[in-house]
Amino acid sequence: MADTLPPLDDADVRRWRACVRRFWLHRHAGASATAAATTEPADSDVVQGPALPVALRASFPAGVTLSASQTQVDWTRAVERTHIALAQATPEAEGWALFGACLSSDDGARAWIDLITRGAHGWRLFKLRYATVGTEADVDAVALWAHVAARCGLRVQSVGLLLVDTGFIYPGHGCYAGLLREVDLGPTLGSRPVGTWLAAMQACARGAAPPVPPGAPCTQPHPCEQLPHCALPQASVRRTDARARLEVVGREMASQLRAAGHADLHSVPLEALPDARLRRATRAVQQDAPVLEPEAAAVLRALPYPRHFLRFETIGFAVPVWAGTRPYQVLPFQWSCDTVAAAGQPPQPLGFLAGPTGDPGRAFAQSLLQALGAEGAILAYNAGFERNRLRELAAQFEDMGPALLALAERIVDLFQIARAHYYHPAMAGSWSAKSVFAAIAPDLGAERFDCEGQGTPLEAFARSLQPGLPAAELQRLRAALHAHGQRQTAALRRLVALFEHRRESANPP
Ligand code: SF4
Repeated sequence: MADTLPPLDDADVRRWRACVRRFWLHRHAGASATAAATTEPADSDVVQGPALPVALRASFPAGVTLSASQTQVDWTRAVERTHIALAQATPEAEGWALFGACLSSDDGARAWIDLITRGAHGWRLFKLRYATVGTEADVDAVALWAHVAARCGLRVQSVGLLLVDTGFIYPGHGCYAGLLREVDLGPTLGSRPVGTWLAAMQACARGAAPPVPPGAPCTQPHPCEQLPHCALPQASVRRTDARARLEVVGREMASQLRAAGHADLHSVPLEALPDARLRRATRAVQQDAPVLEPEAAAVLRALPYPRHFLRFETIGFAVPVWAGTRPYQVLPFQWSCDTVAAAGQPPQPLGFLAGPTGDPGRAFAQSLLQALGAEGAILAYNAGFERNRLRELAAQFEDMGPALLALAERIVDLFQIARAHYYHPAMAGSWSAKSVFAAIAPDLGAERFDCEGQGTPLEAFARSLQPGLPAAELQRLRAALHAHGQRQTAALRRLVALFEHRRESANPP
């Protein structure tokens, strides 16, 4: 009967293991299944680093890549090509690997294997993960691949993950040997009876829709792509107003309040809350208006001019692109600053954005020192982030070290001031810059990143580093990043103006 159903793959296993109803709905969604699948969250390849193909080529110089298989005809050809490539592989071919190997089993499953290499005693199957640890879903996928490979008659020597080794330091010149580390999954596969799973999945697909399983992950860690089609009982989807949910005052407090019979913050007496910050947030929710304590104005009015409103953007590539850096090292690539020389003066915008070549660290630090000078307050939000980057740059560039550390000393953290004296119901319990900016200045759009096709500044910056990018595309990405930086600093100025109870000076043209 297995041959009457479309073959099962690791994505089916992932859905089925998460929720049998999700698996069933996907299988019965017909044409919409593909669209639904594309909404599942996935790592954005571009932020892994533009050197990805170089890194793989360095690790497997004799690697062979099979093209992606979109249709059944393509798949059949890819399976044929896989068997031919495996038959032609020789044990002595150093650095040989087959990327994207396609195999089908006689019990209705198929495997699109990231990487096969040849070992002394058989084939070695790997799932490639640009991450430091694997997930249960990775182990499931590898278990399915091993099952399919064995059913195809391949002698499997080992199965595992290839993960990023965070101890690797990129020496430059395209030398990526040592970037990936192997994790053997052989000992864990015994706990995954793939043959039994496949039979159960096939029976499930042929049967009626399964009921909602207890503890189904409908919204965690991401909203289930089948939520709109699932017809959950109303009780399961009942939502509290996010602004008034009990978690606004913290998880622990929320459980105590829930146990005391409260469904949201509207019914909570202020005296039931243990500190001023929680009482302020609850008061703001209950009166549906922000609460600002007068102390915030006093703190800010005492700050000297010039005032520099500063934001950093950083990136951490899985595959380092600059010599001397490690995987996932937090690297600053953009700073944006509005300087206000004196009260009532218009802001002077300045900024730095790394170009497509070379480590930008020194240019970043030099330009920042020049822009911020030796005087005035530097205002940032969640400023520990900016301070830490300055300290790292000071350690890296000793000639600028004292000056960079002096900048760190001048930073005033608006997050701390906001947390001690302010709450807006639209923050819904979140103190991230994104939430605060959206609450206090929705007209600025500082929480958004406007660049078609690029969801985040990180994606846009990573894309701008790709070799051979057309000049117009590079310009478009850089313009979007500059505009984003200016909206961020404008939001910082708006926050300070709000706290000081004054109208803000006009934006520069
Ligand atoms: S919404 Fe929940 S119950 Fe429905 S398919 Fe998704 S995880 Fe399963």
